[in-house]
Amino acid sequence: MLNKKSVDDINVKGQRVLVRCDFNVPLKDGKITDENRLVAALPTIKKLIADGGKVILCSHLGKPKGEPKPELSLAPVAVRLSELLGQDVKFAADPEVIGPNAKAAVEAMNDGDVVLLENTRYRAEETKNEESFSKDLASLADVFVNDAFGTAHRAHCSNVGVTQYVDTAVVGYLMQKEIDFLGNAVENPKRPFVAILGGSKVSSKISVINNLLDKVDTLIIGGGMCFTFAKAAGEKVGKSLVEDDYLDYANEMVQKAKDKGVNLLLPVDAVVAKEFSNDVPFHTVEGDMADDEMGLDIGPKTQALYADALKGAKTVVWNGPMGVFEMSNFAAGTIAVAKAMADLEDAVTIIGGGDSAAAVNQLGYGDKMTHISTGGGASLEFLEGKELPGVAAANDK
Ligand code: AMP
Repeated sequence: MLNKKSVDDINVKGQRVLVRCDFNVPLKDGKITDENRLVAALPTIKKLIADGGKVILCSHLGKPKGEPKPELSLAPVAVRLSELLGQDVKFAADPEVIGPNAKAAVEAMNDGDVVLLENTRYRAEETKNEESFSKDLASLADVFVNDAFGTAHRAHCSNVGVTQYVDTAVVGYLMQKEIDFLGNAVENPKRPFVAILGGSKVSSKISVINNLLDKVDTLIIGGGMCFTFAKAAGEKVGKSLVEDDYLDYANEMVQKAKDKGVNLLLPVDAVVAKEFSNDVPFHTVEGDMADDEMGLDIGPKTQALYADALKGAKTVVWNGPMGVFEMSNFAAGTIAVAKAMADLEDAVTIIGGGDSAAAVNQLGYGDKMTHISTGGGASLEFLEGKELPGVAAANDK
């Protein structure tokens, strides 16, 4: 269990409560195309409203790189949040985030009112965790609540710096839920415990592989990174994505799995094409590839092998697609893993955010999973065994 104070441990009646949410939602032509993160933030917001707090919400959206960019304004989020909450969410449209609009809006608040500040990354200090913006944010608040799991692996003004200038800093329900699910899965799993890792590169998942080999019964590897393992084992992988600097590391991990008695599964076949494109012929290869071919998905035998390995699992954690799932010709492996997980009964199934979460939701398996994390990078760092700065900054229980 997370040993941090939460919104259940404080009395916010009449207090100005600054809540760092993760409203980093995809937008198209000013419309929100996936509102999962807004919905996930509602329990904390509703609780603070019900308790009579003056609820001041803040978040980043995209990467405006320290400048006001109208297309990355949080204005559309205020509109949708008003609908979801069934009450007005006043938007404070200050390009400097904390400006005359924000100050006046907060000044005018009654208990239970909600104000949303502008994109915190309009300010260049935000991602550098600089004192000036942390103090500006804190000047509006008596209490700080961090409910933004998606940025918990970063130390920015709006989730870490600000905590130094308020008396009380706690976590929200979403943060608590994310850490509890991921923490329990990794530290106290019902066994067999299976982890599935995919995505493009070994280099970005080194620490995750290493850490999970100490915890799991089975580790399944797919995606681009399996070709570094295949090459390290002496196979010909043609033009597939390979990180030559990590061949020794791949062999070390294979050895570590043997030493630990972990069942490390790597693909036995691959779907290959001559170009990184959905418009060229493709076929399945077992064993060596031709020099001009590249592996873009796991093959049917591997799909069956992985689905079989998942049978009977009691805890499953998945991060990263099995192939280039954005292209329909190379999506079958990712779909097969999502389906095998969705079919599990009586298992804790956790999707570690990012591409795998998008894939699971698009395929309509979202409801079948125990937990879909709202943070890809944050859940990955959590799986590496790192302390997340955004969580560490909250008051201890
Ligand atoms: P990551 O950000 O490391 O989780 O990687 C996700 C990306 O990996 C997705 O955009 C996939 O298209 C890509 N990917 C998965 N399998 C492969 C592959 N075999 N070759 C190249 N890219 C891949």
